[in-house]
Amino acid sequence: MSTVTSPGSTNLGQTYLNFIGGSWQPAQSGQTFPNYNPATGELLGHFPLSGEAEANAAVAAAKAAFEKWRLVPAPKRGEILFRVGELMKQYKEDLARTMTMEMGKVLKETRGDVQEGIDMAYYMGGEGRRLFGYSVPVELSNKSGVAMRDPVGVVACITPWNFPIAIPTWKMFPALVAGNTIVIKPASDTPHSALRLVEILHEAGIPEGVVNIVFGPGGTVGEALIHHPDVAVVSFTGSTESGRHVAIEGAKTLKRVSLEMGGKNAVIVLDDADLNLAVEGILWSAYGTTGQRCTACSRVIVHKAVRKQLLDLLVPRIEALRLGDGLDESVDVGPVINASQLEKIHSYTEIGKNEGATLLTGGSITNEGKLARGHFYRPTLFADVTPTMRLAQEEIFGPVLSVIEVGSFEEAIAVNNDTPFGLSSAIYTQDNNRVQRAMRDITTGILYVNSGTTGAEIQFPFGGTRGTGNGHREAGLAGLDVFTEWKVVYTDYSGKLQKAQIDQ
Ligand code: NAP
Repeated sequence: MSTVTSPGSTNLGQTYLNFIGGSWQPAQSGQTFPNYNPATGELLGHFPLSGEAEANAAVAAAKAAFEKWRLVPAPKRGEILFRVGELMKQYKEDLARTMTMEMGKVLKETRGDVQEGIDMAYYMGGEGRRLFGYSVPVELSNKSGVAMRDPVGVVACITPWNFPIAIPTWKMFPALVAGNTIVIKPASDTPHSALRLVEILHEAGIPEGVVNIVFGPGGTVGEALIHHPDVAVVSFTGSTESGRHVAIEGAKTLKRVSLEMGGKNAVIVLDDADLNLAVEGILWSAYGTTGQRCTACSRVIVHKAVRKQLLDLLVPRIEALRLGDGLDESVDVGPVINASQLEKIHSYTEIGKNEGATLLTGGSITNEGKLARGHFYRPTLFADVTPTMRLAQEEIFGPVLSVIEVGSFEEAIAVNNDTPFGLSSAIYTQDNNRVQRAMRDITTGILYVNSGTTGAEIQFPFGGTRGTGNGHREAGLAGLDVFTEWKVVYTDYSGKLQKAQIDQ
């Protein structure tokens, strides 16, 4: 596959800059932080260690640009996004490699991450010629009413490291087509992927100040953005703990805060399931991206009649997964993101053992041979997990899967719904009546039938219930709601004062 490189792309050890008001700038202090490859420990580059001053400068640039950008016709804004999609397509392989190097997931998955961004660029590019409002009949004669979408203003995008291109596009592209301006603060573990995306927006012709990127810690840059009075919307994806804090602090200046947070997703395997198909879905959902997807399957809820058969099929397949550097096409599972996440994952293995769960495979950090300098964890499976154990309730965000046995369809649904999170569920059954009941009774934002818990498509709303979200959705048409304000315009052409709702 040929690699096309976008401007300013990878040179190992290079120092990169913030992009504020159309110019590339270092942190005012001149300080930087390093970016490492989690598979090899290799130093990839240095990024500006910014703080409040840079965040404020970026918000000021975005605020100034808003007055012009909101007046650019939406079809023209959409055309820029269409060009962004074309460029992302051209640079897809190089973007995927950059991403694998900085966050570890295997190339076929980083290509998928970029593809999601391309899909979103085309989808939101098309919205430039729709952005539908509506008109409905009004109750008085010689009067009309129309509801239209206005942009909100400056949007702060705070993003995690696990989908370092796709998630920024889910926020930035709908916000931009609707006429908002952006300050993005990407996760400190994946600055380079976000930088490449901003370079592409710049190359596609985004006017200066419309998109700004500031690198630095959540505790300084992120805090400055969530408190800034000129930020109208905070679009946050990350842990439930950080999201709760963003919501509380954002409320102080009455910001609109959209939160996409953690998950504790389950695959339900009923007694009539196609077990071979279920095994494929479980493997992909539980160990893809090394279990570090918000939609990752971390629980299998299996009917007791097929538990043994399922485990007999599953364990050897887990043990056959190849760990290694995601740049190696023969590798199935890459490293986890960093040392502290590795420790956290391992602590859950200890918690599981202490709770009385049975460790069937994995459960250890590995640093053999080529894995010596990376953060690798063996794909892990626990059985005999009960629904209230911490293993079954808390988000681990790593390659650790728990099997919970149930005795009926009803019990499976109840266990599925009983966690503090509500993002994604899956059910394997051949019985259409059970499918219909699952569609009615499962309380997560996403349900897959006879497929694993991952694989959302960008034309549908994405998000979850309970501790996963705060009622907003990303992607699809619903993804525009966070970034637009409804305005209703009544026009009275009767030439006299007409009074709605007043008896004549
Ligand atoms: P995180 O630690 O909460 O960080 C997310 C982002 O918030 C990062 O950019 C981080 O900056 C920033 N941040 C941290 N503290 C902040 C503060 N006080 N104020 C403002 N910003 C702050 O989450 P993560 O470890 O990167 O991502 C993993 C989590 O994301 C998991 O829980 C996963 O389920 C969730 N996730 C959810 C979805 C979804 O759509 N529901 C999708 C993907 C991931 P630094 O990097 O500088 O700390």
